[in-house]
Amino acid sequence: MNAAAQSDNLPPLRDVIEKHGLIAKKSLGQNFILDLNLTRRIARAAAPLENCTVVEVGPGPGGLTRGLLMEGAHRVVAVERDHRCLAALAEIADRYPGRLAVHEGDALKVNWQKLLEDTNTDETIIVANLPYGVATALLTNWLEAEPWPPWYKRMALMFQKEVAERIVAEPGTKAYGRLAVIAQWRTRPRIVLNLKPEAFTPPPKVSSSVVFFEPRQNPTPSCSPQTLARVTAAAFGQRRKMLRQSLKTLTPMPELLLHKTGISPELRAEALTVAQFAELAAAFDAGAGPPR
Ligand code: SAM
Repeated sequence: MNAAAQSDNLPPLRDVIEKHGLIAKKSLGQNFILDLNLTRRIARAAAPLENCTVVEVGPGPGGLTRGLLMEGAHRVVAVERDHRCLAALAEIADRYPGRLAVHEGDALKVNWQKLLEDTNTDETIIVANLPYGVATALLTNWLEAEPWPPWYKRMALMFQKEVAERIVAEPGTKAYGRLAVIAQWRTRPRIVLNLKPEAFTPPPKVSSSVVFFEPRQNPTPSCSPQTLARVTAAAFGQRRKMLRQSLKTLTPMPELLLHKTGISPELRAEALTVAQFAELAAAFDAGAGPPR
């Protein structure tokens, strides 16, 4: 059954913005998508939506929210920081009784499991056109979620293209770094859509991309995500230096740790695979390098 509607009989987003005086605030990363065909495409990147509760960060005037509901999302739970958007979102909630819950607040401070306590759908997924200023912080929180597998089944998230490229970057490239390691250790990320600046109002300076994340059931090798973050912070913090030097900010005896994992102390962070970083983290926790 195709639950997708042709129109939602709500006013065009341009009119919504004018009616509610939603002049975009740069400080809140407000670059809105007004084309519902486009927001529906983004929604479809996370399909199927029928049995899903969709978590959306930053619904703004509601373009993506409407796209998600039109594409059949069972329920959308949205967190928006800008009080000015709430009246516009209430009109969408009226149009879809019981299917849209909006919480005013800072998504960085939300306890997601608590927020979703009364969720009664098979799956929870995250779909958002993220505010760029907090996009990587939000992503990192979701990637470091415990327990794992996480509370969400998949994510489709919009980032600046440069950030999206860092997420999917391979070893040996300039874009490869901390974000690639944590993202690829715990999920299978892939870029599914690229958008030019003109797709947004107002247009940002750079292009954007939607990244789809499928969580791995058992990230291997197994390690603590916090330790993995410490290892990658040390290694990439001095990415031009050899590991025997850069890992000194992690442990006074990097050689011991590297020897235990069979990794050459002369390599630089960029050369290591995601699995090797996880091995280093596991060895560190097993005592190969006492914390400073
Ligand atoms: N979803 C809308 C769209 O696609 O047109 C708006 C996306 S806009 C890029 C980002 C939205 O996130 C804005 O509505 C902004 O007010 C909101 N926002 C910014 N910082 C936030 C935060 N810390 N927590 C929740 N929402 C935030």
